[in-house]
Amino acid sequence: MALIVQKYGGTSVGSIERIQAVAQRVKQTVQAGSSVVVVVSAMGKTTDGLVKLAYDISPSPNRREMDMLLSTGEQVTIALLSMALQELGQPAISMTGGQVGIVTEAEHTRARILSIETERIERYLAEGKVVVVAGFQGTSSLDELEITTLGRGGSDTSAVALAAALTADCCEIYTDVPGILTTDPRIVPDAQLMSEITSDEMLELASLGAKVLHPRAVEIARNYGVLLVVRSSWTDEPGTRVVSPLPQPRSLAGLEIAHPVDAVEFDLDQAKVALLRVPDRPGIAARLFGEIATQDLDVDLIIQSIHEANTNDIAFTVTQNSLTRAEAVAEAIAPALRHVLDPAAGEAEVLVERKIAKVSIAGAGMIGRPGVAATLFSTLADAGINIQMISTSEVKVSCAVDAADCDRAIAALCHTFQVSSSPVVAPVRSTLAPVRGAALDLKQARLAIRQVPDRPGMAAKIFRLLADRNISVDMIIQSQRCRWVNGVATRDIAFTVTQLDAEDAQALLQGAAQDWGMGEVMVDRAIAKVSIVGMGMVGCPGVAGQMFEALAQEGINIQMIATSEIKISCVVPEEDGVKALKAVHAAFKLSGAERITVPA
Ligand code: ASP
Ligand code: MG
Repeated sequence: MALIVQKYGGTSVGSIERIQAVAQRVKQTVQAGSSVVVVVSAMGKTTDGLVKLAYDISPSPNRREMDMLLSTGEQVTIALLSMALQELGQPAISMTGGQVGIVTEAEHTRARILSIETERIERYLAEGKVVVVAGFQGTSSLDELEITTLGRGGSDTSAVALAAALTADCCEIYTDVPGILTTDPRIVPDAQLMSEITSDEMLELASLGAKVLHPRAVEIARNYGVLLVVRSSWTDEPGTRVVSPLPQPRSLAGLEIAHPVDAVEFDLDQAKVALLRVPDRPGIAARLFGEIATQDLDVDLIIQSIHEANTNDIAFTVTQNSLTRAEAVAEAIAPALRHVLDPAAGEAEVLVERKIAKVSIAGAGMIGRPGVAATLFSTLADAGINIQMISTSEVKVSCAVDAADCDRAIAALCHTFQVSSSPVVAPVRSTLAPVRGAALDLKQARLAIRQVPDRPGMAAKIFRLLADRNISVDMIIQSQRCRWVNGVATRDIAFTVTQLDAEDAQALLQGAAQDWGMGEVMVDRAIAKVSIVGMGMVGCPGVAGQMFEALAQEGINIQMIATSEIKISCVVPEEDGVKALKAVHAAFKLSGAERITVPA
């Protein structure tokens, strides 16, 4: 018999009528021949209301008591839904997280799941009961029975973790939207529903999809191969399937914390081309990558760093046998860029590096764990390896290093993260549309540290400092241009963090700047990050050029660029963010005729 885990969010169980409608749907699923475990959220905005009560009493409520309070919301729903099922003649039993045996870390208000007992649930299922489990909560250990919660939005995570532990056939997430859309429909009204997306794409779209699906839930689905279906609880439409390639079997022990990094990847066939001091105005990246695309050259990493004196540096990597052609394109374009330059800024210059290697760590578990990237940098530093380029996405951090250092880098990283290494597989040209979705993030701020000494260990120090304060860093870009300051070679490092952390990050770094020989630390809050994501862009030349062209046509200036295999992100001025999202969404033909209505 099939086993299905169904999760119903707050609005889906927001009133007695809705709880009764959910009970109907659950009963129908049972009648169609499946065993069902239901995971529910608190009714409507209950959790927000409880949070408010706590803050009415204390500006910094005790975290243990907060968990005691917030976990009550879900407990109301499980009891009512069980009663509603029983009224329909469907045997059902409700269970709290502790009663199930959902064991978490002892971190109140943001615990990660360590393990799940399945025995009691399985017994009730065998008796023909529907088991209704409270989402979002667990217990710190089976003896202490301290109630913990998983962090806001955490009942998705409870549901997928249960599906993994019970090896369910699928986990359905019922919500108030029809599924996963190509972008945010409140900004782009002609966003379309996707019928299917991979969990890797979903994770890269975290800033788009996080409201619909908790990224930690997607991480578990990916790691354990759980099929997820996101669909509306108001209709019978099929929604969106979030699929995962069959993963390596992994133990359920340490469920959410065991391996933040799954693999160390490397690619020895890379060469770098850098254009220094190109004009900082719209259209430059579009022109360069448009030209590269007409040569059918596939670029891998692209980074553009922050600028000084109104110029930018753009660097990208290609396979070694494409280097000659890529270099020729860059050399041909450079003079054309000169006449527009501020003469004081010097001339655009092309630099190539024939043999570099890319080493990456990949894994969904690094989301929200800033220490992982810091550990990557310190591992390379301890091995005496200098990092030439850094490019980050939600689930991957890549570093370009000297090809001669590659073996040592891999060995050190595999040792640190306790994983095996794998070469990056040669891209197959995919038949999928190259771009599946687009996202806009208006909540980030950019920090730039000027004149960081160019020697191993600096990135490690910087990002460890931030990680120890639990500040997650998103895009990290190290400039290509080297500047000599008092006889020391220096580079600038720029990165983005959420705006909430910007001030803290700036103060921390400014405090360390003098001791570490770094320059000024600057913050810009008025930025927006636009990203496009798609598995199909692997091995499909021209995608980057098309994105930059779409932005250029709108007259939007690109401040920073960072890429991973399946994602390209650009930082643009905040006031251009919405226009930028609309432009790229349209450029990749993601728009459609169908209007999808979503609640505000
Ligand atoms: N009720 C919790 C919250 O509002 C958990 C959830 O709904 O996922 O954050
Ligand atoms: Mg939710």
